[in-house]
Amino acid sequence: MDHFQYRDGSLYAEDVNLSDIAAEVSTPVYVYSSATLQRHFRVFNEAFEGLDALICFAVKANSNQAVLKTLAKEGSGADVVSGGELKRALLAGIPAEKIVFSGVGKTPDEMRDALSANIKQFNVESEAELEVLNAVAKSMNMIAPVSVRVNPDVDAKTHAKISTGKAENKFGIPWVRVSRVYARIAELSNLNAVGVDVHIGSQLTDLKPFEAAFRKVVDLVINLRTQGHDIQHIDLGGGLGIPYDPDAETPPSPGAYGAMINKVLGDLDCSIILEPGRLIAGNAGVLLTSMLYEKESENKVFYILDAAMNDLSRPAMYDAYHDIIPVKEPSQTGGEQGNKVSADFVGPVCETGDTFAKARPTSPMTAGDLAVIKSAGAYGAVMASTYNSRALIPEVLVSGDKFAIIRKRQSLEDLIKLDQVPYWLADE
Ligand SMILES: *Cc1c(COP(=O)(O)O)cnc(C)c1O
Repeated sequence: MDHFQYRDGSLYAEDVNLSDIAAEVSTPVYVYSSATLQRHFRVFNEAFEGLDALICFAVKANSNQAVLKTLAKEGSGADVVSGGELKRALLAGIPAEKIVFSGVGKTPDEMRDALSANIKQFNVESEAELEVLNAVAKSMNMIAPVSVRVNPDVDAKTHAKISTGKAENKFGIPWVRVSRVYARIAELSNLNAVGVDVHIGSQLTDLKPFEAAFRKVVDLVINLRTQGHDIQHIDLGGGLGIPYDPDAETPPSPGAYGAMINKVLGDLDCSIILEPGRLIAGNAGVLLTSMLYEKESENKVFYILDAAMNDLSRPAMYDAYHDIIPVKEPSQTGGEQGNKVSADFVGPVCETGDTFAKARPTSPMTAGDLAVIKSAGAYGAVMASTYNSRALIPEVLVSGDKFAIIRKRQSLEDLIKLDQVPYWLADE
């Protein structure tokens, strides 16, 4: 459930009319709903009631300070994958003891920053990384708490570009090497193995791959304990899917996911960490855009929007489906069910891949109309680029009847100012 609903013929985010935001901030713009972020966090949290669970929001899904602060106030921790995300999480007030650091390529500088901050744990992804982390911790006279990210060789049955738990993926340590790696950690003076970590992919719409992976991890924890390692918690990663296309996808509810985990854990006596990203932020945001032109070709109609693939790259990158709906309620414009047209929603960027939807049934729109691309709160703004010298677009957060710009629109001056002309090309 989200808080983007029609009211009096117009689409609202909570109690704010989206056309008011467009009038004040201009389009394209990302709009997030605080109430939806809070609701998603609470529903997810409640699914683990009775378990010793820490929820670490995957910052890479949406790293805006205002979004992180909203979640921090709900008690969220953070899963970070870079020094930049670590800094953002700490600045937003997420306590270090609720921060875990994932990712296959942590640099010594990033390790140093995370150790100085005293984060909860490093999710280590290779044997080479272990040795470097040990050396960095030693130089600082510290002990680094580590979990090994294991690769359970389970097919997440999701898009190939967001599948991470198969043996062929770059993530995690191969199953057959895991025991040896924990033995090595025990030999290293400045590492302490505190847990096991797994994350098999994103946008999973079936519990079975999760369950298969988690069962393997539970067996592993039992084994590691008999080998003398004091494993206190399991990090089960993120990845639970959301309904982008309600007609096509019915992902399991957080409740069903929590119940499955409770069952799989049995009486293991282990605390757990969860790293949801998309589930919290995805349907808490929309990309508000205006239609610039309608263009008819021989056998189709293009709706050309002012938003493009550089603003929201998921359709181009993952063939992702996003619902697109007009801000003006269709029934008010004569666009009843029977009155639908088929249109390709595209952006202005010079790439055929700059297509948000192909042959999409839609109520008719005309130039100047506002529309939203739904489910854009996760992996939207964070993946934006300035391709075609299109400046980064703003982000707005709604709370009740209030809204605020939480990231201002980049100016073209600021965009171009990043370039530097070398002295031999400088004007006299
Ligand atoms: C991307 C990622 C997540 C979040 O995935 P969602 O599908 O957004 O829940 C969690 N953990 C790790 C290690 C990740 O890389």
